[in-house]
Amino acid sequence: MAKLYFYYSSMNAGKSTTLLQSSYNYQERGMNTLVYTAAIDDRYGIGKVASRIGISQEAQLFHEKSDLFNEIQQQHQNQALHCILIDECQFLTKTQVYQLTEVVDKLNIPVLCYGLRTDFQAELFEGSRYLLAWADQLEELKTICYCGKKANFVIRMNEKGEAVCDGEQIQIGGNDTYLSVCRQHYKEKTKC
Ligand SMILES: [Zn+2]
Repeated sequence: MAKLYFYYSSMNAGKSTTLLQSSYNYQERGMNTLVYTAAIDDRYGIGKVASRIGISQEAQLFHEKSDLFNEIQQQHQNQALHCILIDECQFLTKTQVYQLTEVVDKLNIPVLCYGLRTDFQAELFEGSRYLLAWADQLEELKTICYCGKKANFVIRMNEKGEAVCDGEQIQIGGNDTYLSVCRQHYKEKTKC
């Protein structure tokens, strides 16, 4: 039986690299994959998942209004799909996470979602909230803080390198950067 997977982490844990490797493993066996990424993330140009170690693959974009079940069902009718892979899945809506459960349950296609668990204020993203609730399988992709402990928090920093406490959950085109840290260092650095 197909399953819905949620691979979650903080920033820079290699989510895109892991996604691309999984997609490649399917293709190597002659199976078809469909890769999605959020329309919000245009770091690498439109419709592409790229990893920091230099590999990339074309991707379809999802935005707030995308009906993922319909899109996937239509493509599946044209050409059998064996795996759906979704990058930046924290940006999915509740409705879209439900649609992905339908892809698994009605179309019997595995869906692998990769994304952040929490934002820079340590709050769950909408997509991550419902994936944590509804996925069949949860897997944490680990990265480490500068102190060596597991980093499961994300700090947003301004151009001066100071932690930012307020702002939109999703910031487009800013000069801010992000740092993955452990909980202890998150609390020390964000005394908001
Ligand atoms: Zn630390």
